[in-house]
Amino acid sequence: MSENIERIKCLIIGSGPAGYTAAIYAARADMHPVIYTGMEPGGQLTTTTEVDNFPGYPNGVDGPTMMVHLQQQAERFGTQVRIGMITAVELSNELGGLHKATVDNSKQIEAETVIISTGATAKYLGLPSEQKLRGGGVSACAVCDGFFYKGQEVAIVGGGDTAAEEATYLANICKKVTMLVRGDSMRASKAMQHRVTSTTNIDLRYNTEVDEVLGEQVVEGLRMLNNETGEKEEIEITGLFIAIGHKPNTDIFKGQIDMDDMGYIITKGKSTKTNKPGVFASGDVQDKEYRQAVTAAGTGCMAALDAERYLSSIEKEVTA
Ligand code: NDP
Repeated sequence: MSENIERIKCLIIGSGPAGYTAAIYAARADMHPVIYTGMEPGGQLTTTTEVDNFPGYPNGVDGPTMMVHLQQQAERFGTQVRIGMITAVELSNELGGLHKATVDNSKQIEAETVIISTGATAKYLGLPSEQKLRGGGVSACAVCDGFFYKGQEVAIVGGGDTAAEEATYLANICKKVTMLVRGDSMRASKAMQHRVTSTTNIDLRYNTEVDEVLGEQVVEGLRMLNNETGEKEEIEITGLFIAIGHKPNTDIFKGQIDMDDMGYIITKGKSTKTNKPGVFASGDVQDKEYRQAVTAAGTGCMAALDAERYLSSIEKEVTA
């Protein structure tokens, strides 16, 4: 049985900007990283059309192309990119201990270091009309896609800090932002609520839900439902932003890694270190605030540097 177990220096789980950047750095440091792509190779960016805010692309780039570039750059230095899901882990508590991972419920791997870059998944409402128009005007990231609706009328769903922040961001670019909050109050901090209510081109609607997103190929409007009165109202919009929260992809690490109450992995101070020696976290899986490709890439770089330093410190201890 044990001859089936592959032993590696660095296992990277997840193939978004964080995972690939970690791979570029780890490969250049001779850590021979192996990256497992997960169910959505390339991560959330592969569902985005145009990426205009990643430095180095003066004319923008579409999300899938950018992820291919990142993959090729990681492979250029010897990263092994493998299609597959890590379905279970057994993380060691020992300094220098080996971490076990199962691939697709079968193959076993032992890794000296693990970089978790499994990302987070944006929540959607689940309406068929919303799903049909994802990429056709329905987005879960105002900072990524808001620019395309410059001077136009849009709507945003949600009443938390993300929705409040994105509504004010959109209000700066767009002509009008209709904000739908399903309850009779917002969950966002008082300061953020104040920013929303004092922005004149945000039309804040409490007790309001999406009944249907209108349009065939692209968003043309929204039918709203007032859940108190049962009244329905249609408005014309070209973009709909869903800001009802994200779910970090951390289910397989539950009970093994310290997480906050929302399931985001807790990293130590300004590092990417988790509570397990040799296990690091980068990207959206440990960041609920910034969630940008470039910030994810930055923490991917940090995770590889932290992993490299960890391995050197273990080697020093062994040779001392
Ligand atoms: P939250 O979980 O805080 O808020 C989600 C919002 O979406 C709530 O208003 C919720 O309504 C609403 N909602 C959920 N499901 C639905 C649905 N099916 N239909 C309509 N509305 C729905 O998520 P956020 O992403 O806003 O924030 C996550 C965390 O990140 C929070 O801790 C937040 O404080 C933090 N954050 C901090 C920032 C900062 O400090 N600058 C910026 C962004 C986020 P209801 O209230 O009725 O449940």
